[in-house]
Amino acid sequence: MSLDDRWFTEIHAAEGSAFSLKIKAKLHEEQTPFQKIEIYDTETYGKLMIIDGCTMVSTYDNFLYHEMMSHPVLFSHPNPKRVVIIGGGDCGTLREVLKHPGIESAVQVDIDERVTRLSEQYFPELCESNDDPRATLMFDDGIKYVKDLEPGSVDVVIVDSTDPVGPAEGLFSRPFFEDVHRALAPNGLVVQQSESPLYHTDRIIKPMHDMMRAAGFLDVMTITFPQPLYPSGWWSATLACKDMPVMFAREEQAEELPFPTEYYNAAVHRAACASPNFMLKKLMG
Ligand code: SAM
Repeated sequence: MSLDDRWFTEIHAAEGSAFSLKIKAKLHEEQTPFQKIEIYDTETYGKLMIIDGCTMVSTYDNFLYHEMMSHPVLFSHPNPKRVVIIGGGDCGTLREVLKHPGIESAVQVDIDERVTRLSEQYFPELCESNDDPRATLMFDDGIKYVKDLEPGSVDVVIVDSTDPVGPAEGLFSRPFFEDVHRALAPNGLVVQQSESPLYHTDRIIKPMHDMMRAAGFLDVMTITFPQPLYPSGWWSATLACKDMPVMFAREEQAEELPFPTEYYNAAVHRAACASPNFMLKKLMG
């Protein structure tokens, strides 16, 4: 729904709030077998991708999300080599993962090839590592892909999915987390985007903690970071470790980052791990 034809507005009905961007033009719209994708050119946020009416990616602020979905989990693992990304079809998370020189393979599994093809066209900077020899792009259901993985074959799983509706619903479930747990090698970690701390701690983050623990993960921790494009402007990712406490295992290496970032650094990592009181209460309750 729009205020008028010069604005894109996403209404967050349950919270009685909305987010709007002034647009210059609508560049593309299509209904794929999985979802409706729209691309806009905006006045101030560059290009904007919308899936099923929800903001996904903008040129201007995607670095916040993509860096925080990648670097905290990768610096929490003592020696990550094999990464699987579920979703993430815009390829921004893949680009960040491949900045880590120790990564030997990164497999991105998005259900919808059209997200990647449109990202190549409208967000080429996010796709600049797609031809890296360590990268594999697959187009399949991530739930099925993880179920079929060899036990103990992956160091880090990154779940960069849409909201828990439609094809992404099963990614927010105990059976999925059980399959992720089985696929992870010793010391293995998963990170999953877990929506807004302000709006979704009760409905998404707390159930995710409970399901991850029930699936066998030894420790679970939620990090938070700003993300203007998403509901409330404040977002989260939830990390779980198979068999160890979630910790900043390679803090010294993060202090001397061997690659450029716009948001992530060691101090940001430490700050993102701090839980506000209201979250602590809800997560422990
Ligand atoms: N950063 C975004 C957010 O938090 O809203 C997510 C962006 S990314 C484009 C989300 C991707 O998840 C989409 O490309 C969608 O096709 C993919 N996806 C949804 N369900 C999936 C599933 N079951 N398996 C693999 N990919 C899935």
